[in-house]
Amino acid sequence: MSTAASAKNGTWRNWGGNVTARPAREVTPASVDELAAAVRKAAEDGLKVKAVGTGHSFTSIAATDGVLIRPQLLTGIRNIDRDAMTVTVEAGTPLKRLNMALAREGLSLTNMGDIMEQTVSGATSTGTHGTGRDSGSIAAQIRGLELVTADGSVLSCSEKENPEVFAAARIGLGALGVVTAITFAVEPVFLLTAREEPMSFDKVTSAFDELWTENEHFEFYWFPHTGSTSTKRNNRSTGPEKPVPQLQGWIEDEFLSNGVFQVAQWVGRAVPGTIPSIARISSKALSARTYTDIPYKVFTSPRRVRFVEMEYAVPREAVVATLRELKTMIERSGLRVSFPVEVRTAPADDITLSTASGRDSAYIAVHMVKGTPYQAYFTAAERIFTAHEGRPHWGKVHTRDAEYFAGVYPRFGEFTALRDRLDPDRRFQNDYLRRVLGA
Ligand SMILES: Cc1cc2nc3c(=O)[nH]c(=O)nc-3n(C[C@H](O)[C@H](O)[C@H](O)COP(=O)(O)OP(=O)(O)OC[C@H]3O[C@@H](n4cnc5c(N)ncnc54)[C@H](O)[C@@H]3O)c2cc1C
Repeated sequence: MSTAASAKNGTWRNWGGNVTARPAREVTPASVDELAAAVRKAAEDGLKVKAVGTGHSFTSIAATDGVLIRPQLLTGIRNIDRDAMTVTVEAGTPLKRLNMALAREGLSLTNMGDIMEQTVSGATSTGTHGTGRDSGSIAAQIRGLELVTADGSVLSCSEKENPEVFAAARIGLGALGVVTAITFAVEPVFLLTAREEPMSFDKVTSAFDELWTENEHFEFYWFPHTGSTSTKRNNRSTGPEKPVPQLQGWIEDEFLSNGVFQVAQWVGRAVPGTIPSIARISSKALSARTYTDIPYKVFTSPRRVRFVEMEYAVPREAVVATLRELKTMIERSGLRVSFPVEVRTAPADDITLSTASGRDSAYIAVHMVKGTPYQAYFTAAERIFTAHEGRPHWGKVHTRDAEYFAGVYPRFGEFTALRDRLDPDRRFQNDYLRRVLGA
């Protein structure tokens, strides 16, 4: 497994390198019983508990000074139910392994995010999503969950069994228990045709509603300091399969998207004044392409340039106004932003603290390459996002607290009441949860 989070000299570090923690001890349980015993032992020792995935969150949501539970030995497929069209996987399974195993079985998830390095439990716990008109986040595809709660007991939930737990625990922020297995809805593997095309910022923003309506999965990247975007439309296709040829794929995805992009980021970091020119050149270098492949090969791609990210969900109807404000802010601020801004969508879902809970949403993500100061940019962007009642991704940089969340999530109290019931002694608490959920 690509465990981004490292633990040198007892220090745990996330993928973005902006969060570190020193757990009192680490455990790597190989079974649900061992995991439950680790939770009970932590309680006896008066220690907090935190299960981690691969450390791909940019917030300190996975950090702990207590017992850190590693996922490596809780992996693999437990069961595939072809009548119900579901798959049950161990919580530490990387998405990549799940996607590849499903493809071998002729099955697939319906929708997914940009990468597949994360564990299934880590990804769903923070509401990881891709883009979709009709299909939502990875957590929205969950049909059942098993978790070890604070007293060390095992609790199963679904729409029918403990539905009040199911409503919240699909995006549980690691606050309700340690997830041990997840049952996802699956469907027969299908083909998607991806159409990537440069488009001007003015065109994409004025035609956004049409582009969203006409495509199952629409997203775009806007290059700050330019009027250019790169759009991507993914739609189901009857085939034939037409993958990106290997060499072309290497040139476009590895060399151009990762390699040249990396060099451009280095130059931009060393000489920030060059960023607008680099942005203009790199946005022009993009060309159109179309390919058809199975879902995970179309939705996901490797990200080798390390960065730090903030992402907010705003009501979908507010996305164009929000983006225009962001563009104006960057133009007037003197900020030098070398990383594209990503825009995606999700339909409303019924998960208590999902960023798309009860409202059709659009996501706007701002990034800065690792090692460059991001506070000024993110602070100014966050001011714009929160003015539109934005809800930050739980795993990406933000400064919001429980008081703010009580205002933007109508069901916030439902989540905290459930946490009071399942974890009265705050066994799963850390500084991040204290801030976003309250003491
Ligand atoms: C390069 C990159 C690309 C990304 N792309 C996307 C994207 O396309 N879309 C998107 O929405 N996000 C994206 N993200 C964010 C990322 O998907 C989330 O932060 C995700 O939560 C990371 O998963 P992880 O396995 O690394 O979990 P971690 O970051 O290690 O943990 C996240 C949370 O899950 C909890 N957790 C982990 N395992 C368990 C368990 N067994 N039981 C209970 N709680 C648990 C942790 O305690 C913590 O609260 C990206 C991040 C990076 C670095």
